[in-house]
Amino acid sequence: SAKNRGLNMYALYSPDMNISTREKMALESSLRKAIENNEFRLYYQPQVDIRSGEIKGVEALVRWQHPTKGLIPPNDFIPIAEETGLITQIDRWVLRTACMQNKKWQDQGLPPFRVSVNLSSQEFLDDALVDVVKNVLDETGLEPKYLDLEITETMTMNVNHAIPMLRNLHSLGIQISMDDFGTGYSSLNYLKNFSIDRLKIDQSFVRDIGNGSNGTNIVSIIIAIAHSMNLEVVAEGVEEKEQLRFLQIQKCDEVQGYYFSPPLPGEEFDKSFLDLMSRMKKLY
Ligand code: C2E
Ligand code: MG
Ligand code: MG
Ligand code: MG
Repeated sequence: SAKNRGLNMYALYSPDMNISTREKMALESSLRKAIENNEFRLYYQPQVDIRSGEIKGVEALVRWQHPTKGLIPPNDFIPIAEETGLITQIDRWVLRTACMQNKKWQDQGLPPFRVSVNLSSQEFLDDALVDVVKNVLDETGLEPKYLDLEITETMTMNVNHAIPMLRNLHSLGIQISMDDFGTGYSSLNYLKNFSIDRLKIDQSFVRDIGNGSNGTNIVSIIIAIAHSMNLEVVAEGVEEKEQLRFLQIQKCDEVQGYYFSPPLPGEEFDKSFLDLMSRMKKLY
């Protein structure tokens, strides 16, 4: 299409905008089809107890199984889904599917663990969210304590909305984690007013462990902040033994990352659960 651009009169004004608008419209309509045709898949990545090596939770991460383009990662379609409002339908599918899957694992006899679901800011702003979550728990039969919702600091900037919303969600008996912690604009002053259970240290800080940069320091500070507020702390993006060792010394509670396991499709996760469990314990 770049070749034709010269003939397009709109291109004279803003070629990039024109192209990207057209691409966006195409993506939006294929996203709509994807919702209709059930083309989304959930992958699950374990969150491991740093002391025992046990799986305490799994994070549900969405992928788009595109009929011709293959598996598309969330960063390639979540932004446009947010822009078009389609994210709400996707996130509600994710929430229901993750709760159903976790209940199924428990019914199969796996030791119970949490499932974590990422929320978009649009969902978090929607007052209907509390009822949506409550209905999903009722319909799937998952005990509330086995559901965890991941929010980000940015979503909590409107504290007049965030404080009651978090309290209402929490009163359902579910858990709440603050994702990508340290990359946003949390006021420590408000953090203590938020009904949350844990902080997830952003992977950019974990990556810096042992690099001689101040990432190491930031990790220690976040762990101290979390523990001083009686919050648990999970490190994400753990890829190397050295990072794990540092996190153990600093008394981080849980770890998540490629060092333990990549995100796995649900079927693979339960088929290899025992292998996974014993691998975690060995790695630890
Ligand atoms: P996130 O919630 O911070 O998820 C962690 C991301 O880090 C995931 O990428 C995961 O696959 C990746 N990761 C895990 N371990 C490692 C590691 O050891 N090293 C590195 N380099 N990366 C690791 P993914 O699955 O591509 O998801 C990207 C982001 O997309 C997520 O970041 C989350 O913000 C968003 N997302 C994923 N699923 C959903 C969803 O269902 N709804 C919404 N609204 N957003 C979602
Ligand atoms: Mg997350
Ligand atoms: Mg994260
Ligand atoms: Mg992230």
